[in-house]
Amino acid sequence: MTDSTTPKNKLEGKVAIVTGGASGIGEATARHFATHGARAIVIADVQDEMGQSVAASISPNICSYVHCDVSDEEQVRTLVDSTVNKYGCLDIMFSNAGIGRATNTCVQSVFDIDLSAYDKLMAVNARGMVACVKHAVKAMVEGHVRGSIICTASVSASVGSYNGIVDYTMSKHAVLGLVRSASLQVGSYGIRVNCVSPGLVGTPIVKDTMRLNDEEVAKMQESVSYLKGGLLMPKNVADAVVFLASEDSQFVTGHNLVVDAGFKS
Ligand code: NAD
Repeated sequence: MTDSTTPKNKLEGKVAIVTGGASGIGEATARHFATHGARAIVIADVQDEMGQSVAASISPNICSYVHCDVSDEEQVRTLVDSTVNKYGCLDIMFSNAGIGRATNTCVQSVFDIDLSAYDKLMAVNARGMVACVKHAVKAMVEGHVRGSIICTASVSASVGSYNGIVDYTMSKHAVLGLVRSASLQVGSYGIRVNCVSPGLVGTPIVKDTMRLNDEEVAKMQESVSYLKGGLLMPKNVADAVVFLASEDSQFVTGHNLVVDAGFKS
């Protein structure tokens, strides 16, 4: 008997990059990629000790860590080039790195938005995302790889923000525009581009941005979810990413796969 928890080697022999893989959704996805038989997983992040430790705990034989600040295009180019040089190709790009706020200020409302904080946040969440898609697409086209690119958007990509985070909301709306446009432009090469949109997950980005502890995040998750029976975890989002990375979604492109436990917007 098989079920969703049975390892099925859906990614046998694949070479994948996971940005923001040192923590949260990226870390859970890197672990899922390994469970599903990926040949090589490169975790790219700015938290070096955590990234190295996650890579070592998955398996030094298939998982490695590369320091890469996604807001710097040269670092993204080097990340992709070094992956292709080492493993021969790039099959999967999970462009997932993101931040919730760029300064100590939680609230970024239109009344008093700090535009330098806005620039810093957009540099990671929007610019970083397009840099990863651009260099992944180039590597896949040059390597004749019918690859899969998955970006992490958010439920904030589809609704406005009433009480704050206007810059974060804008950055995630930008991810949808990127995915929809890129998917049309690279479809003729057999490359698919999709995004996953998580609801509230209790990772450091949420605890730090909202200044909540684990218990407070869990209460908030309960209150914003119509679907009862558990809390949305990084591994639930990782399941959706594996689907989008694998042949199970062979004809899915330009899609926004929402994994939000019935988010009350
Ligand atoms: P997280 O804080 O656990 O992970 C984010 C990772 O991104 C960290 O390891 C961080 O070091 C890395 N990162 C930040 N800036 C970077 C940069 N410039 N270059 C490379 N890496 C960088 O949080 P998470 O929840 O796992 O977040 C992953 C993605 O999911 C983000 O894009 C986030 O916006 C999105 N998301 C999260 C939630 C949620 O509720 N947790 C909901 C919707 C969307």
